Amino acid sequence: MQLDDQRASSNVEDRRGIGVGGGLGIGGIVIAVIAYFFGFDPSTVIDVAEQVESQRETPQATRGAPSDDTGQFVSKVLGSTEDVWTKVFQQSRSQYRPPTLVLYDAQVRSGCGIAQSAMGPFYCPNDEKLYIDLSFFRDLQQRFRAPGDFAQAYVIAHEVGHHVQKLTGKMQQMETARGGPQSNQMSVRLELQADCYAGVWGHYAGTMKQLDPGDVDEALAASIAIGDDRIQKQTQGRVVPEAFTHGSSEQRLRWLKRGLDSGLPQDCDTFGGGAV
Ligand SMILES: [Zn+2]
Repeated sequence: MQLDDQRASSNVEDRRGIGVGGGLGIGGIVIAVIAYFFGFDPSTVIDVAEQVESQRETPQATRGAPSDDTGQFVSKVLGSTEDVWTKVFQQSRSQYRPPTLVLYDAQVRSGCGIAQSAMGPFYCPNDEKLYIDLSFFRDLQQRFRAPGDFAQAYVIAHEVGHHVQKLTGKMQQMETARGGPQSNQMSVRLELQADCYAGVWGHYAGTMKQLDPGDVDEALAASIAIGDDRIQKQTQGRVVPEAFTHGSSEQRLRWLKRGLDSGLPQDCDTFGGGAV
């Protein structure tokens, strides 16, 4: 990516090296780690939230773009998503309210409960924050064999996509379906739309000359690597489509590509009825 001319967002909270803080021990809290890498189903997050009492913000967390290389990269990608979504929302005469990105190590207290890095990056609609443990970028490269800075940016843009869904009310719709017979289907539609929104951002990143040759291929490779079928095969040796929560590799690739190609959020209607 070419981010030299991109401003870094200051909507970043650096909690690396801080731990969860407060008086609550992690040992007593049961968290259902059902998530696949790369974000978890928001309904799970809400369940966890009900088990965890809310605590004060950890005071030591610093706000603003961190100065280290990865911190700068993440802040610039976030800044780029802010610029793009602000414009896109303006086009439909509405206002974009940017989310906060929280960097953490190992475990973190969020508005949706305590999370651990094994859950992968996630978005919490309650506090409108994205949570990313940077070790996931290493996993993406080594475990999922999807290297490259734009693959990492896609992860951030996907979580930002969930924030867009919070703003448009789609995430709330998902909550209504939670626990019902359509629950998994809804989750897949929500995730694929977030992939498509990540693509919409990528489209504009291209027009802003922020992409290098090969960048798009990095993101496409990442979307394939984190498809439910691929991950199920790796972790349990077989594929159970009914248990999909994020979509197959083919689906994730297709929706990301769709957003990348058109740059139009209205082309991301995964809820329009019919198969996705
Ligand atoms: Zn997601």
